[in-house]
Amino acid sequence: MNYVCTKCNVEKPKELFYAYKENTIKGVSAKCKDCVKKISKEYRKKVGHTKKDAERNKRWRDKNIEHCRIVEAAKRARNPESYKKAMSKWAKNNQAKLRLLRDARRTCIPSWAEIEKINVVYDKSIKYGLEVDHIVPIKNKLVCGLHVWHNLQLLERKLNRSKGNRFWPDMPDQTQLSSAQLQTITA
Ligand SMILES: [Zn+2]
Repeated sequence: MNYVCTKCNVEKPKELFYAYKENTIKGVSAKCKDCVKKISKEYRKKVGHTKKDAERNKRWRDKNIEHCRIVEAAKRARNPESYKKAMSKWAKNNQAKLRLLRDARRTCIPSWAEIEKINVVYDKSIKYGLEVDHIVPIKNKLVCGLHVWHNLQLLERKLNRSKGNRFWPDMPDQTQLSSAQLQTITA
């Protein structure tokens, strides 16, 4: 099925229009995707990225987190160089956050930690291309794991990212937690 865009007046197949339920006849928007994109780009240029936009984006991302991860992984695989550049740019702009993480790790190293054993784990992670993960997370509002070798495990990057600092063995049963506690865990 082809439709004519009301903006550019070009006849295009249905796939090139955004689905729009309120248009009960066609089921798609009156303007084609290209035109909608162009209009919103111009609007953004004029108005700028608002707080509301950021909130909406975050909400959508949270709802579609698995999809986002797949898309981002594909993007990384397509262009590892630009990913590296973006990461170092992020590190530059988030030095305070990084320092906090490093400090948290440092304060979680007890005096009896066997540093050589920890280093072996990190060497292995480089050798096998895996990420070092803290079994009991170091940075969490409910628990504080230690930076010791027996709290370390090697995980595939994807798995590590999905675990985050939200899960650990013997974590409290979520059904018995208050909603406020639950929020602090899953935040
Ligand atoms: Zn158009």
